[in-house]
Amino acid sequence: MAIFVHEGDLPEGLSFGNSVAVDTETMGLIPSRDRLCVVQLSAGDGHAHLVTFPSHVSYSAPNLCKLLADRDVLKIFHYGRADMAFIRAYLGVTCTPVYCTKIASRLARTNAPSHSLAPLCRDLLGITLNKEQQCTDWGTGTLTEEQQVYAASDVLYLHALKEKLDAILEREGRDALAEPCFAFLPYRVELDLAGWPETDIFAHH
Ligand code: MN
Repeated sequence: MAIFVHEGDLPEGLSFGNSVAVDTETMGLIPSRDRLCVVQLSAGDGHAHLVTFPSHVSYSAPNLCKLLADRDVLKIFHYGRADMAFIRAYLGVTCTPVYCTKIASRLARTNAPSHSLAPLCRDLLGITLNKEQQCTDWGTGTLTEEQQVYAASDVLYLHALKEKLDAILEREGRDALAEPCFAFLPYRVELDLAGWPETDIFAHH
């Protein structure tokens, strides 16, 4: 495994094939308050690229934005709703098309007690994720080695998880249900950012 760290944007000409795993690290949970600090990417090849945004760099990242908006590249997230909101708010990009391993797990594994990333990796891949750095300070501008490894581990296994989850979805006849859920996700994010974050617009009351 190799981890590449880039400040402010991806280098030009870097290709991730037709699908890229994406995750973000931020200063908190609220896009209007807490800034975006890191965007992690992996082609599913065991390597990770970390794009860091220290407070002194701008959020103009044309190479990264081009990749995230590329309709020929599937973006694989785990709970993309949060990551996509920060990406939309700070980089001005709507990620599409997208796949979310959390939504896929909710549809495929209705007997699972949790759909968080660590239990998913454990149950489907037999991999133990170390979540110790989750609440670390991502805004310092220089990531420690522990932070780099943690940030990378959030994207390294998403391709493998997608493969496992797709097999279950197909077996259980729920793949046709998953597709429109993923397609709606960018609009769910727009609703979140536009002022309906806690509202289920499909609810009766
Ligand atoms: Mn993460």
